[in-house]
Amino acid sequence: MLDFLGDLRRTHTCGELRATDAGAKAVLMGWVHRRRDLGNLIFVDVRDRTGITQVVFDRERQAELHEKAYTLRNEYVIAVIGQVRQRQSVNPNLPTGDVEVIVDELCILNDAKTPPFLPTETVTANEDLRLKYRYLDLRRPPLQSNIELRHQVALAIRNHLSARGFFEIETPFMTRSTPEGARDYLVPSRIYPGQFYALPQSPQLFKQILMISGFDKYFQIVRCFRDEDLRADRQPEFTQIDLEMSFPQQERVFEVVEGFLTAAFAAAGVAIKTPFPLMTYDQAMRSYGSDKPDLRLPALCDVSDTLSAEIKQTLVLDPDLPIVAVRIPKVGEISRKERDENRLLFSKTPGPKLLDDIKRLEKSWPDAVAKIRQNCGAATDDFLAIVGSAPLEKGAPVCPGVGQAGVVRAAEKVVFTAAGAFRLEIGRKYADRHQAFAGDRKDPNSFQFVWVTDFPMFEWDEGDGRWMAAHHPFTSPHDQDMDKLESDPGAVRARAYDVVLNGTELGSGSIRIHRQDIQSKIFKAMGMSEEEAKSRFGFFLEALQYGTPPHGGIALGLDRIVMILAGADSLREVIPFPKTVTAQDLMVDAPMHVSESQLEELHLTPAFHGLSPDNRKLLKTCETVLHHLHTELFGKDFPQNTPLQAAVALIFAKSFGDAEAIVRLARAGYGSQAAGLCRSLIESAVNIRFITENDTQDRALAFLKSTAPDIQRLATKLRRTSSQAEVIAVFEKAEQLARESSWPRTVKDRMEAIPSVERHTYDLLYSMLSQVIHSSVSSMAGVYSESGNAAQISLPPTSKDIELPLMIVLDFTRVVAVETFKVFGLEFSRVDAVYDEFQKQRAATL
Ligand code: ASP
Repeated sequence: MLDFLGDLRRTHTCGELRATDAGAKAVLMGWVHRRRDLGNLIFVDVRDRTGITQVVFDRERQAELHEKAYTLRNEYVIAVIGQVRQRQSVNPNLPTGDVEVIVDELCILNDAKTPPFLPTETVTANEDLRLKYRYLDLRRPPLQSNIELRHQVALAIRNHLSARGFFEIETPFMTRSTPEGARDYLVPSRIYPGQFYALPQSPQLFKQILMISGFDKYFQIVRCFRDEDLRADRQPEFTQIDLEMSFPQQERVFEVVEGFLTAAFAAAGVAIKTPFPLMTYDQAMRSYGSDKPDLRLPALCDVSDTLSAEIKQTLVLDPDLPIVAVRIPKVGEISRKERDENRLLFSKTPGPKLLDDIKRLEKSWPDAVAKIRQNCGAATDDFLAIVGSAPLEKGAPVCPGVGQAGVVRAAEKVVFTAAGAFRLEIGRKYADRHQAFAGDRKDPNSFQFVWVTDFPMFEWDEGDGRWMAAHHPFTSPHDQDMDKLESDPGAVRARAYDVVLNGTELGSGSIRIHRQDIQSKIFKAMGMSEEEAKSRFGFFLEALQYGTPPHGGIALGLDRIVMILAGADSLREVIPFPKTVTAQDLMVDAPMHVSESQLEELHLTPAFHGLSPDNRKLLKTCETVLHHLHTELFGKDFPQNTPLQAAVALIFAKSFGDAEAIVRLARAGYGSQAAGLCRSLIESAVNIRFITENDTQDRALAFLKSTAPDIQRLATKLRRTSSQAEVIAVFEKAEQLARESSWPRTVKDRMEAIPSVERHTYDLLYSMLSQVIHSSVSSMAGVYSESGNAAQISLPPTSKDIELPLMIVLDFTRVVAVETFKVFGLEFSRVDAVYDEFQKQRAATL
């Protein structure tokens, strides 16, 4: 039997009571964290978000209560009322460990199934199980504290930015593709068949537009979505601290970021040093072999000059490429076997060369090695290795970007990168010895921030064979490098910057292009045609022309910052409801299959796989035509002032419905069924032409009468059980009404009133349709094999007879549309352009 909460209120949280509270009355509520049964005494640890308090049930005081406490199990939800008293044996590990509550009253507010794992400090359950029962996992104290930390950090950042004049402004989630260049998550539109919204990879263009709109300083703690292959430290949706400001130099952005990071780290009890050091991309590559240098270990040391040409030759090192020493402090003696293992950590790309036997080198060239030790500041117990390059084949093809002064050359980069990666591997391996990664939170050296600036503007994309924006194409090039945009794109530096902490990129940003002329040049340098640029970012290019202030900004990953501050080793430890590495949410079980009808509604039912490429093209044209017709004509009021308008609206609506159904059937491989429907579409075309040919209003009236409600109502009078007499009566009545309407009875009658050229077309099509429909019927009846009695019946979906119905859709929706647009005085040219385009294609392929 469970108890009700009633009007019982907590006096304290479970983390609150101290020795000074002894003697007070306390009402605590929470979860049964642990129950220990010591015969006469039952001890229960009650847990809530703030901590744990021990409560005691004493049989000698209250036998009945003791019995009730006996029924408590892990994770039951309880309220206890009792008295705080000093504990006899204090628990130094709990903040509340000096006291306990001796219980007078117990309410069991809810029971709990035996959980698949207990929400203790450490949990042995595998991560999948934890994520499936995330609500239980989140009860664990480490996660409770991570989520609280996340809140504190976000709050500190908000407060800091708000105090400095930044407005938090929301931007849409359902939007167009943004320029970050990852794969988009798409949201299908129900209203616009075949069209999609994209979830933003970042609010990039919106925040720039907010600057154009004069908001001056914007920020947002915002979810971003990128459909990338996942790694341990990536999530499909993640949170950015996104900001943008008007009229800044990059230093203004740095000040703001350093300010809010100071506040965020302070919220976690960590003091950091500002301003952060600056380093150009070029320096970072040369000194650390990485654009996210970890400054906690010594930089690479250039030793090229220390080695004579002779030595280089003997060691088979390319004298024109970098030769650097990797030094890791305090590694001490390492065995030969260890050295062999370490060698496996070195780059496998051809070119870079590792010389790791310093002792042997020392024997051969004691002076040179002594000089190297001295230049690198290496103590005797430091790890030291040399990295250079095997001689490059002269004249071998080199990728663009080689050879510009001031920008690290591609061939050099290979060597630096290999040395930099090796430095980190060895650094990690011997972390216990050098202690540089120990991460004492009190020591500001544990948090080594650096700004990396002057990134290259473009990266060469081997696959596409063109230059791509290294950050995004709205990043401004350096003023001094503008003239190289065309002549030497690889040498153009961007006003882009990254903030890096301990070798991890926390965020990146840039000063933006605020002039349309420069923006066009950048697109051009990237080999993007004006058309492509327009179709992707047209709205933005237009906006740029209405008085755009100089502006710039940055975005930092909140998840990563919290992860570092929490000392967690995965983003999933600091995101309340994360996805797995395989992009699933195991708790709600997403992604999931949806019903056919949902897919249908979103126009996502797949086309029959057997359709030929030509048929697919034709389908696409039909869908485009129908889409245009839909946008032009539906969702507006059709004026109904004359019989003509009323009749045409009806005919158009009916033919549009038929056409859509035909296209869908054809798409699904039901060609001959689609052909059946075509007769109805053609009839609509005949009707509209017949009406608009002559005596227009009279004929329209006749049409309306022939479809009048009393005729429709007659049909409902018929029952399956109707007597023959009743059936005859209904039909006679229908005949009479039809006669009175003076609407010609058969399609043929109406066709005869339309100029003969068209009539022949219609006749021809009608008989073609009949054949399609009929031949499919005869094939259903069975194509018999030689032996005489085995049937081969082909059922849809098939690729047969797809073309004719689709052609009919194009030809006859056009007939209906032309008349409809005329009657309602609408501009047909936009829709007609699609038809024309198609006719041209058709003429070309015939
Ligand atoms: N939108 C960019 C990103 O998410 C950041 C920026 O340029 O502000 O990487």
